[in-house]
Amino acid sequence: MGIILDTKFIFITGGVVSSLGKGLGSAALGALLQARGYKVRLCKLDPYLNVDPGTMSPFQHGEVFVTDDGAETDLDLGHYERFTGNPACQNDNTTTGRIYTSVLQKERHGDYLGATVQVIPHVTNEIQDFIREKDGTADFVLCEIGGTVGDIESLPFIEAIRQFGNEMGRKRALFLHVTLLPYIPAAGELKTKPTQHSVKELMGMGIRPRILLCRADREIDPAELKKISLFCNIDEEKVIPALDASSIYEVPLTYHKVGLDTQVLDAFDITDAPAPDLEKWERIMRRIKNPEGEVTIAVVGKYTNLNDSYKSLNEALCHGGIANKVKVNIKFVEATLFDESKEDIAHELQGVNGILVPGGFGERGAEGKIKAAQYAREKKIPYFGICFGLQMAVLEAARHLAGVTNANSTEFSEEGEHVVGLMTEWTDGNKKQKRSREEDLGGSMRLGAFPANLKKDSKVAEIYGQTDISERHRHRFEVNINFKDKLEEAGFIMSGTSPDGTLPEICERNDHPWFIGVQYHPELKSKPFEPHPLFISFIEAAITQGRLV
Ligand code: GLN
Repeated sequence: MGIILDTKFIFITGGVVSSLGKGLGSAALGALLQARGYKVRLCKLDPYLNVDPGTMSPFQHGEVFVTDDGAETDLDLGHYERFTGNPACQNDNTTTGRIYTSVLQKERHGDYLGATVQVIPHVTNEIQDFIREKDGTADFVLCEIGGTVGDIESLPFIEAIRQFGNEMGRKRALFLHVTLLPYIPAAGELKTKPTQHSVKELMGMGIRPRILLCRADREIDPAELKKISLFCNIDEEKVIPALDASSIYEVPLTYHKVGLDTQVLDAFDITDAPAPDLEKWERIMRRIKNPEGEVTIAVVGKYTNLNDSYKSLNEALCHGGIANKVKVNIKFVEATLFDESKEDIAHELQGVNGILVPGGFGERGAEGKIKAAQYAREKKIPYFGICFGLQMAVLEAARHLAGVTNANSTEFSEEGEHVVGLMTEWTDGNKKQKRSREEDLGGSMRLGAFPANLKKDSKVAEIYGQTDISERHRHRFEVNINFKDKLEEAGFIMSGTSPDGTLPEICERNDHPWFIGVQYHPELKSKPFEPHPLFISFIEAAITQGRLV
């Protein structure tokens, strides 16, 4: 369907605490409007000073979600993509750092014609430009503001959306606030006071939310909702209870049940909206709630105590489970514990049906991951290496099978033979390669979608059902193509390369039920209703492995 409405803007803010599920709520609302036939676009404004989250530790910020056009973005964009199926892009995410970079560039360029450059109007205008640019691209543009209302750094964003909302008017702009009703055990009740304060804070900044999404871990007494409506000056039916769901994919269904999309449409005076078609969400939930079996996958990484670090990966594994009608249990194994330890990683990996080594950076944990790859190879357990996980499997094969006993990656060692390295370190006179160690860390990786050609009759070609693919990358180092023959003699076949044949993209073992390493991040493109073929196939192999033991 084309764009049938003047673009309506929905601004989603959060109050009381962070991690309220604003991103998921936005994604779910987007999915619900889409299910009614509207075209939606979701974007995120992050108030931190980093230009993008690419330089932040996964412990700080969780996963960095990479888009086709090579942007390193907030993980909420992953939710947006998974829920709506719309590929996100650089222009769907901005940060204070990005806004200020642009303002300062304009200042240096003399674009402000002698004006004193100030937060209002220059920074707020820059933020509004980011939002206004989406006008006409969808029926509904949903803009999530990161952080919590009242934070110092989000003030310019709040002011910008206030101005923007004022200019657009009620028919085209809506403020939706997400808050928390904490449960106080001593009182035995959910408390509404933090919500009242948060709305007051927002009103103090000139924004009157018209919809309130109240997060709670248990049923909210209707009398409490009424009280919130009264104190916060919001229509009763627009104070919406949003309880924890059993799966994130249940959120669109539960939010529809409590009237979220209906109330949004009502706030815009849209009376002729088609009913939503939620069949695909219901189908997914039927699968999730009625698995026919289960498998356990060990994820051997080093950001294992923060779930958000591997957000897309966890979801992609779940999608592989949905496709195969099984529940996927993830067992996180902390690779760093096995770097030096004499203790065998086998203790941790025994009994699992598949081993996955995900993306990662730096030396810590590398040896542990190499041990995990060796264990999977020797015990014939399905192995899926993603990015760093491919590189470690290559080092394992080079060291133990191909006779390159001192094989190493220049990422963490100057010593040994560099089977993995910066391309500049192993190609002579290749003018195309510009990466170097001296470059800034931010934005200096091979980022975004790149095509790859798969070898005919390879396992991956069979899995993908085609030989030309495009996948998203985020890495600096590459497997050295010069070791192709040695690795292949050792049974590790380079079954996918860049179209010019210089960059190995996929390696697969020819003597193992399922042992595949990929240089890219397939998890970023997996969706609940369109699981990634590699994850479908990996979980299928894990099911088979489970039957064998
Ligand atoms: N650290 C490795 C590199 O930069 C792998 C990166 C990753 O796993 N995303 O090449």
